[in-house]
Amino acid sequence: MKFAEVILPVPIPKSFCYVIPSQLDLEVLVGHRVLVEFGNRKMYTGIVSEIHETEPEKYIPKPILEVLEVEPSVNASQIKLWQWVADYYMCSIGEVLNVALPSGLKLSSQSYIQIHPHFIIEENLEQLSDREFTLMSYLEKEQTIPYTQVGEILEIKSPYKTIKNLIEKEAILLIEKIKERYKPKMEKRIRLSQQYADQPDSLDDLFKLLSKRQKQEDALLKYLSLVPIHEDYLTNFHGVAKREFLHVGRPLSPSSVGTMTKNGIFEEFERQIPRFELSVADKMQPTPVLSPAQKECLQKTIQGLSEKNVCLLHGITGSGKTEIYLQLIKSVIENGEQALFLIPEIALSSQLVKRLKVYFGDVLGIYHSKFSDNERVETWKGVQEGQFQVIVGTRSSLFLPFSDLSLIIVDEEHDSSYKANDPAPRYQGRDLALVLAHMHHAKVVLGSATPSLESFYLAVKNKYAYAGLHERFGDAQLPEIKIIDVKAKRKQKKMKDDFSDDLLHILHQNTEQGYQSILFQNRRGYSPYVTCDVCNWVPTCPSCNVKLTYHIYRNEIRCHYCGHKEHVPHTCVSCGSTEMKTVGLGTQKVEEELKTYLPEVRVGRLDLDTTRRKHSYDQILTDFEQGHIDILVGTQMITKGLDFDNVRVVGIINADTMLYFPDFRAHERAFQMLTQVSGRAGRRGETGTVILQTQQPSETLFAKVARNDYHNFYRKEIKDREQYHYPPFTRLIKLTIRSEKQDLTHDAANYLGRLLVNWLGQKRILGPQEPGINKIRNYYLSEILIKLEREGIDLKKAKGLIQKAIYQQKEEKPFKRVWVSIDVDPQ
Ligand SMILES: [Zn+2]
Ligand SMILES: [Zn+2]
Repeated sequence: MKFAEVILPVPIPKSFCYVIPSQLDLEVLVGHRVLVEFGNRKMYTGIVSEIHETEPEKYIPKPILEVLEVEPSVNASQIKLWQWVADYYMCSIGEVLNVALPSGLKLSSQSYIQIHPHFIIEENLEQLSDREFTLMSYLEKEQTIPYTQVGEILEIKSPYKTIKNLIEKEAILLIEKIKERYKPKMEKRIRLSQQYADQPDSLDDLFKLLSKRQKQEDALLKYLSLVPIHEDYLTNFHGVAKREFLHVGRPLSPSSVGTMTKNGIFEEFERQIPRFELSVADKMQPTPVLSPAQKECLQKTIQGLSEKNVCLLHGITGSGKTEIYLQLIKSVIENGEQALFLIPEIALSSQLVKRLKVYFGDVLGIYHSKFSDNERVETWKGVQEGQFQVIVGTRSSLFLPFSDLSLIIVDEEHDSSYKANDPAPRYQGRDLALVLAHMHHAKVVLGSATPSLESFYLAVKNKYAYAGLHERFGDAQLPEIKIIDVKAKRKQKKMKDDFSDDLLHILHQNTEQGYQSILFQNRRGYSPYVTCDVCNWVPTCPSCNVKLTYHIYRNEIRCHYCGHKEHVPHTCVSCGSTEMKTVGLGTQKVEEELKTYLPEVRVGRLDLDTTRRKHSYDQILTDFEQGHIDILVGTQMITKGLDFDNVRVVGIINADTMLYFPDFRAHERAFQMLTQVSGRAGRRGETGTVILQTQQPSETLFAKVARNDYHNFYRKEIKDREQYHYPPFTRLIKLTIRSEKQDLTHDAANYLGRLLVNWLGQKRILGPQEPGINKIRNYYLSEILIKLEREGIDLKKAKGLIQKAIYQQKEEKPFKRVWVSIDVDPQ
């Protein structure tokens, strides 16, 4: 007998064994999606990860019910990658499957009820309550109904009892209907009936027949002009899209075409079409010519990749790294292999994809989480069938079914959006790219103007090759960065609200000259919070321990963690005073102040609040690109890779806020963010200007940003990391303990902490401690940070012990309702 190990989308860290029934013996392959029963009447789609002949010892395996496809959806190297993710990031392989497989390839299982075939209502009337009878009569009419509709039909909230009773009486059956989620997109097309297409003579007869029917004759003429069957009668086979036929060019009367179809002159048929139009109307272009500096950098990269598997491409902002990527991708395509171009955030993709399409046309595929299921499945299949040789996508594209991957580019490799947070697997896209590349013997290029400390460290240690690009493209220079001392300016009365005279002056001047500006404030909303002027009371979120953020637009205060919102209180809850005021500065307020001081200027805003709708992000950027906005105010969203020729001035309203995050990466983040946002200025032609406003003009980090001095920044930062045992010198694992009661969280965290101290040693365990925000969505949190050495430690064993400690804690009765999540390499 043969057995299959099946990976199921459940958070249990193992695969499950099923029997392969003899009739499916030849059909089941590794990577196939199969339908199996799991637990109590639940149907799941799983992936076959292994086929073997070892019968499980402890239980009798159930059979595989169905094989859902002819060709496997998943290949063996993908399963290997999933297993690696599960092991390294300490989660179940089912959880990996859940994020790896687009939901369009999963099946949904929904319970239905139907009358038991042996049950006859009329003979059993006295057995049924009124409610049960109502349901049974309904079922008699409808055959089957979804479980979820039963409540509605009976007008009760919880129909469980009724259903249970009926099952016990053998009056109904619970069945599972499985529906395939992926639906191909179909297009209605029209062609000439075969008899006319095959014999051109018969067309003459047709024209005679229609000679008195002007509209029908028109339709026939239009068809022949669109589909040249007299040149090649085979063209008729594909016909023409009905919509195009009716509406493009000279419009036709739909009813005449309908009549002709009824009379057998035309026939209608359907064809599957790709969901997104990748073919470009514009002509394809050759890839751009490189500058001498870019050429040299490309050569260094190619040389580097011949010696090492990874090359760090360190190119300052505006140096044109993308052109170098293009050349690398081009040679991959020419070799008939696959390339993956990873970007940190989907928001960045539209500008980039537009550019890339022109060069790569139809072999370019796109993949990200904002796509619909159907779109994702189509890209998946396109990669599998070899249509797409290049994929641009966010981190989830690492899970696509590559078979011949030879290059991965990780653009903006320092960006923290590469890290997946909740749910598990909490993987780091950049790091996983290295693993995926290793499995395919592919090369990796990590690109950034501000490399992560981790990557730069490995380049310094000669583990990675290094290619620098230290001049801007064309004749552009790096912007001049001016540090403005806000405290001094205030004393001199040269501040208007949050704007120094220098900033206002240059913004005004820049707009007058027809150039654009960007203003950066890393906080959305109007003011961070509302407070009572008398007693300093601040409204906080009822479910999270955070101050509510003031949003002027609806005069609301909102929680940025759970979305809770309420009206701004008129009176103080604590002392009853009516003197409520707003404190601090968000993007909304910057926008408003700007309108007061520079009323003639057109201001736009780019932050999470203005970009919630699907296309609003693109819309704002297009408006800016086309010059409908003079000054764009934004959060860190505007720091990322956007390329606008006309921006000369960047203002950083308050550079200090970024320095005070309680995180060992605070300085690294601040350096990256300030450098990136400054880099938006003066990318073409004249040198740009950056105004950096701060309360601490002597802070050395700002001076390093101003001098674009990555190397000195790196030297200081790496020393600190080494001294305090932080990555890249150690590996961190963060445990977050959650429960609905503060005491319970506290006790559980202490219990777990003690186990870990005993098993791993005091010096490796930090905490438990409450995080800055210790309550989110009504759950109280506590954290334990585990620091493991990079070398000389058995990582697998250490992880095993951590896992064991968590199980042991979970088994203690009082801690039943405590949850622990594991984050390996937290960011
Ligand atoms: Zn008060
Ligand atoms: Zn909240």
